[in-house]
Amino acid sequence: MSIFYRFPNGLHKALTLSYDDGVEQDVRLMEILDRHGIRCTFNLNSGCWAQEGTVYPKGHIHRRMSASQVAKVYANPNHEVAAHCLTHASLTELNPAQVAHEVLADRENLEAMFGGLVRGLAYPFGTFSDTVVDALKATGAAYARTVVSTNNFAVHTDWLRLHPTCHHNAPNLPQLCDRFLNDSAPFGSLLFYLWGHSYEFEADNNWEVIEEFCEKLGGRDDVWYATNIQIVDYVNACRAILSSADGHTLYNPTVIDVWADAFGKLVCIPAGQSVKL
Ligand SMILES: [Zn+2]
Repeated sequence: MSIFYRFPNGLHKALTLSYDDGVEQDVRLMEILDRHGIRCTFNLNSGCWAQEGTVYPKGHIHRRMSASQVAKVYANPNHEVAAHCLTHASLTELNPAQVAHEVLADRENLEAMFGGLVRGLAYPFGTFSDTVVDALKATGAAYARTVVSTNNFAVHTDWLRLHPTCHHNAPNLPQLCDRFLNDSAPFGSLLFYLWGHSYEFEADNNWEVIEEFCEKLGGRDDVWYATNIQIVDYVNACRAILSSADGHTLYNPTVIDVWADAFGKLVCIPAGQSVKL
């Protein structure tokens, strides 16, 4: 039986980004991403908005935005809003009820602000444990991003321990970009997952890192540009495909069209339909 799932329209590669804390520098980051058609997930702490009208002292780099700024900036439909816990708490210090509260209260605030569902999160400080993951399961979280670099492009399905490929300051970022672009991925699919904080570009005075990254990986027709939740939903749809005993009939019980290389042929298995190969 020969089947390899592909990204939408049969693409072999996908790119997603994840940036934390809801700081002013996200505005500049978003402009760069939009110029290159790249999608990002922004992880926000709704219990930490800056006071309206806050003026930061010169040289202050970690500049959180106010609620009204946040509501305006992240309404951009190209990107996803996700939770980053109400107060940016280190979840491994909390009991399961407190963990659930940090996540659910953040979700409630963000959903009230943006409408729709806020389904994923990034771990504040990157800290997590099996106990934290169990508490998140109870909240119904779709995914939770860690800060553990894989340095590879494997498509993960342990969604509550979603490890990124690397941070934007990884010294091997240019090599990873080249590897991603040059790999034809005949078997399976590749996901490049970059994370960071946009205020770091100001702190390190290295906006050219993200400019060059987007220049290289953006605007290509062989890459699917997706938010974190789009990747999660799509990969889950692939995993939900049912097949006949001989593998020649595939049934898609989901609401998302799924693409696969099956028996050497690229096929689309439309939402709610069967395909005979
Ligand atoms: Zn953070």
